Amino acid sequence: MMQAVRRRGTGIELAVRKIVRSLGLRYRVNPRGLPGTPDLSNQRGCWAIFVHGCFWHGHPNCIKTRSGPHGKIPVSNSDFWTKKIEGNRRRDSVKANALRQKGFRVLTVWECEIRQEQALRQRLAKFLRCDCDAPESSRMGERV
Ligand SMILES: [Zn+2]
Repeated sequence: MMQAVRRRGTGIELAVRKIVRSLGLRYRVNPRGLPGTPDLSNQRGCWAIFVHGCFWHGHPNCIKTRSGPHGKIPVSNSDFWTKKIEGNRRRDSVKANALRQKGFRVLTVWECEIRQEQALRQRLAKFLRCDCDAPESSRMGERV
């Protein structure tokens, strides 16, 4: 638990990269020149993945149930934290929308999802299986 706190989501980023690699897909880490520099992206495949810490990016499930690794908002200064997290969330959605406007499919992976690696793997596989040439209508199903 303490270790996870100190590593600040690096662990989940590495875990996601490992899964994507094991699915046989290539990607770049934090590619410049793309809006929001997603954590993982493949420009030719038109996909981008953001890996978010549950606390800093306000994962609704974790905030609500207070069950996530960083899900709990500290009681003192809760206004401060709430504002900060809301700001992050706003920025996250601006980034994702900018990428979608460029024709990218965007997936957000949450820190807590690594606790169920098999489910995460399936979600990534489903997201990555579609390709750029898919008709717009079939792309609409992918939601963040
Ligand atoms: Zn979470």
